[in-house]
Amino acid sequence: MAQIKDLLLQLFFALMPFVLYSFYYRDKDTNYSRKFILITSMICLFLSMTFASSVEKGIQFDVRYVILFFSLVFGGFRTGLLIMLEFVLYRLYLGGPGIYSAMVILLITFPLSVLLCKVYHRTREKYLVILMAGLCYSFFPLLFLYIDRPDYILTHLAYHILILPVHNSVGVLLLFYLFEKSATDKDMYLRYQQSEKIEAVGQVAASLVHEVRNPLTTVLGFLKLIRQDEAMPAEKLHRFIDTCIDEVKRTEAILSEYLSMSKPLTQKREEIDLARELEAVVEVMTPYATMNNVSLALHVPSEPVRITANGAEMKQLLVNFVKNAVEACSSVQKGNVSLRMHTDGPLVKVHIRDNGIGMNKEQLRRLGSIYYSTKNTGTGLGLTYSYQLIRSMNGTISVFSQPHGGTEFTLSLPLAAITPV
Ligand code: ADP
Ligand code: MG
Repeated sequence: MAQIKDLLLQLFFALMPFVLYSFYYRDKDTNYSRKFILITSMICLFLSMTFASSVEKGIQFDVRYVILFFSLVFGGFRTGLLIMLEFVLYRLYLGGPGIYSAMVILLITFPLSVLLCKVYHRTREKYLVILMAGLCYSFFPLLFLYIDRPDYILTHLAYHILILPVHNSVGVLLLFYLFEKSATDKDMYLRYQQSEKIEAVGQVAASLVHEVRNPLTTVLGFLKLIRQDEAMPAEKLHRFIDTCIDEVKRTEAILSEYLSMSKPLTQKREEIDLARELEAVVEVMTPYATMNNVSLALHVPSEPVRITANGAEMKQLLVNFVKNAVEACSSVQKGNVSLRMHTDGPLVKVHIRDNGIGMNKEQLRRLGSIYYSTKNTGTGLGLTYSYQLIRSMNGTISVFSQPHGGTEFTLSLPLAAITPV
């Protein structure tokens, strides 16, 4: 019974590096280091030798070889060497008649472990190597002790044949299986996380280009208008220049916000008046529409339409839809885009309708997927961004379109909760 208890205790010590690894690295963004292997191996070896199992005073057995092999495989030769040194010093300190045998056995098992470690790293049959190590660690002590003290072995044969091989083989197999599995899982997770990060950075950078292009197009439109109309009244000219300045400022704000944030859709949201935002967008987009021979019509309620959103994001989103609608009309004769807004219960609905080229079923299906664009100079990011944004605001988008029959996008967004006075 006492031997079973010892056996279980030793198995627990053998599994300790895995247990410590699971605790220590669970929430960490790195995998195990040599230092970790060294420290945990040292602790485990110390505990395993302190509470060793023994059938005769002074001759003790523990999972020293399991830990030694583990430290060699996962920590490298130097770590293994330090563990061996710890073993020798502590064994000398513990004393007893078994010291001499322990040292001689170590002289065989250490080089053998180094050899097995090399094979382990090269072969695919790793478990065979581990099993072999476990059996060797039981067989060599048995052989040596039999040569040195046959009477001892014969008295405790059952212990040496039944208990010790289980110590070593089960210990080493379990430890390697569990440790290797969690370390590879962690590795996979880290690699996945890394590639996610790279993808996200790429997407942010790409939509950044897109967002900067819209205001630039607007500014370009205004500048062209100013140049065409040399007799433009000063008041109108100032208004155009102010709009240009606003657009440049917005671009600057977008850029600096992008630089300062890592997550694109977590900007500060507050109560805004969507009707006034849409008016501003129409004003900004009119030159672009004019350039494309498209007329813009706007119907918004005169009273404020309050929603909880980020003003700059909302503006960007509306610009995306209006810009697409204008572009869809650029090849038709009398292109027009109408924008309508009305409240509907707890929602506000914005209809963006054009009489442009429209879309077929296949195009409608792909709408909103990243990089999907049918335009030569398109990025296919505008709608991806807009769909994501609307979803993050608990809104929905529906679209009705027919080839050559125009398109109508309907955005539904929850109104800001009315706080009772
Ligand atoms: P981009 O405008 O850069 O092509 P978007 O994500 O804004 O990217 O739009 C993706 C695609 O959706 C467009 O290329 C176009 O084919 C289609 N699309 C979007 N809006 C309309 C519209 N109003 N009419 C017709 N097609 C549209
Ligand atoms: Mg677009």
